[in-house]
Amino acid sequence: HLDRIAEVEPAVHAFLHVDAERALNAARAVDEDVAAGREPASPLAGVPIAVKDVLTMQGAPTTCGSKILDGWHPPYDSTVVTKLLAAGMVVLGKTNMDEFAMGSSTENSAYGPTRNPWDLDRIPGGSGGGSSAALAAFEAPLAIGTDTGGSIRQPGSVTGTVGVKPTYGTVSRYGLVAFSSSLDQAGPCARTVLDAALLHEVIAGHDPLDSTSIDAPVPPVVAAVREGQTGDLSGVRVGIVTELGGEGYQDGVLAAFHDAVEQLRALGAEVVEVSCPSFDLALPAYYLIAPSEASSNLARFDAMRYGLRLGDDADRSAEDVMSLTREAGFGAEVKRRIMLGTYALSAGYYDAYYGSAQKVRTLITRDFAAAFEKVDVLVSPTTPTTAFRIGERVDDPMAMYRADLCTIPSNMAGNAALSVPCGLSDGLPVGLQIMSPALQDHRGYRVAAAYE
Ligand code: GLN
Repeated sequence: HLDRIAEVEPAVHAFLHVDAERALNAARAVDEDVAAGREPASPLAGVPIAVKDVLTMQGAPTTCGSKILDGWHPPYDSTVVTKLLAAGMVVLGKTNMDEFAMGSSTENSAYGPTRNPWDLDRIPGGSGGGSSAALAAFEAPLAIGTDTGGSIRQPGSVTGTVGVKPTYGTVSRYGLVAFSSSLDQAGPCARTVLDAALLHEVIAGHDPLDSTSIDAPVPPVVAAVREGQTGDLSGVRVGIVTELGGEGYQDGVLAAFHDAVEQLRALGAEVVEVSCPSFDLALPAYYLIAPSEASSNLARFDAMRYGLRLGDDADRSAEDVMSLTREAGFGAEVKRRIMLGTYALSAGYYDAYYGSAQKVRTLITRDFAAAFEKVDVLVSPTTPTTAFRIGERVDDPMAMYRADLCTIPSNMAGNAALSVPCGLSDGLPVGLQIMSPALQDHRGYRVAAAYE
């Protein structure tokens, strides 16, 4: 994998940081265990992995794709990284991302874009484009992403890889630099559903260091994949979400999606259509809630505590230093979110914007609850189009935001959802999204494994 990274990184730019020596030492330690007849730490011991640069790892920089964290070396490991290391996995490095995970194309990284290995003129999705591109380019067999509104599933979809957003609260956020704390969720990126499930069971589990961590058993996702691999979905009820399809969706995406649905039917699933009327409001509500939380979370980058500090001379006030640093350290999209969020939370506007968005969030959760009384899983395309060209949407934030139309509802409700490759449209990968109720992540894995 290190050789492959050296070969393709100049073209793909999936990584922000690679530590070959550390990776080789970790791999040697596993070899020594095996040679000495010791039991490997986990089924994934010795398997290389790439980690999105929004999770802390001691001994490596964490930038979140931002200049404001340039030079910051976190003094602690995130729980996800702690679990990878305890499982004997070999961390290759940290992957590129949209600044603070805000974006759908990885073009918002302050360190330059990542390119889609399927077509180097196209985006690899975002915000976790680095992790998914690393898989698609065979630079790593597994990766970690984070998904606030789709940033694991959408990059998975446009790179022809598997991306899973576990149930909110089932993978620890300790050491995950916060964007929108009530939505952020780390999860597995892989090339197969089984690989994703194996990684899922390594990283999930209750963590007292995260106050929103759920104290519940990890859903049996590996067993569900084995069950799905029998290829029998009889008795499984699958719901097509009426609102996630139709106008604004690429024809080839809809064609691939309908083929996938036919295959699910052929495997024995019962397929019905289910309406979730509030999903139409998910995108606008998300773009109030996520920026609101971001404006608060990003206040910590005050030029005092982390990374960059500009204008630090005797005749300047702390406020000057802070504004100079934030002006130069944050990119345009991050500033847009901070301004939107600050406005939405300000006195006099709070009820109209943030308050309304929270009510929409409740309606979305109710739509899911009603739908899951009728079906076991819901399906949709993962994203309305295949990978678009680099530069195509940079001046049109609304067009960029639409990439997450189908993925956002599951973040709003905290449910589990995954994307699995479902064919090509004009030679570019399309993703099938499978959504499950909270803590029922295994349902989606079973269907995905049967389909795959
Ligand atoms: N594209 C969405 C956004 O920009 C989602 C990002 C994410 O899931 N981190 O907010």
